[in-house]
Amino acid sequence: MSSTKAPAQDSKYLLEELTELRHRKRAILLGHYYANPEVQDVCDYVGDSLGLSREAAKSEADIIVFCGVHFMAETASILAQDKRVLLPSLEAMCSLANGITGEQLAAWREAHPGYFVISYVNTTADVKAYTDCCCTSSNALQVVKRYAPDHRLMFAPDRNLGRYIRLQTGIPMELWDGACHVHNEFTTAVITAQMRKYPEARVLVHPESAGASEDEIRNDPRVFISSTTGMINEAARCAERQILVVTEEGVLHKMRQVAPEKELILVAPTAQCEHMKHATLQSVVECLRDEKNEVRVAPSLAARARVSIDRMLEIG
Ligand code: SF4
Repeated sequence: MSSTKAPAQDSKYLLEELTELRHRKRAILLGHYYANPEVQDVCDYVGDSLGLSREAAKSEADIIVFCGVHFMAETASILAQDKRVLLPSLEAMCSLANGITGEQLAAWREAHPGYFVISYVNTTADVKAYTDCCCTSSNALQVVKRYAPDHRLMFAPDRNLGRYIRLQTGIPMELWDGACHVHNEFTTAVITAQMRKYPEARVLVHPESAGASEDEIRNDPRVFISSTTGMINEAARCAERQILVVTEEGVLHKMRQVAPEKELILVAPTAQCEHMKHATLQSVVECLRDEKNEVRVAPSLAARARVSIDRMLEIG
């Protein structure tokens, strides 16, 4: 047998086993846009953090296999306490979520009495428990505008997203000094170098990017700054044939499906989230077959953390 045929055969058997397992165990697979394409292709739902939270909350499955990183599986467990939530690899962490602990947030709150804490959903359950309202990049502007009239605000943990929202709204906020190691590579210099090289291109920028708040990026008419879902929709909608993509490379899989005629150019092809790539077809099947790597948030912590997620989901 030729060595090149083995992987295809393996994946055929894995796909058959997965079909049988998900049916027999009443399981659904939720995946993030940054997951490997082979994994996105077998998921029941692929989306960004906001969409995934909503799907977890309304799921009627017995088991959720979360093809993303640890904080996402925790969020699913908080929202679906009656379900078993499995993560294909427990090593799939997040540099942004790991940038602040519950203890650190509690101390920061104490230093700012009376402030209202908004946390990006990319945080641990411990941090959510000390948070007043969560947000994602899809709804951060709405959440900040909703609470600003009555409160002084603190925002954690992403300083890049926080700075961007502060500039867009003019609302002052104290910012925690955290960042995603992938999006932090998208500096103004990296983005503008590619914009000069492709002057006709539409430029889609995720607000976690380090350069998103700089005037020469933010005020350029070619630039569209949005959540991952917003970037995908704009790729399909915009008139430009060339698109510069300023986010993690996994998003290209969905963009190619919705905008097959466009030329998609990553501004930094090496900027990949290694944590998001832990889930493979094989690890997904193994995880469901053996029902291993369960992520379970204890009921008392889940109840405290859930308040901040529910407030977000009520807003949008
Ligand atoms: S891309 Fe960044 S924010 Fe997203 S999971 Fe990876 S480390 Fe976390």
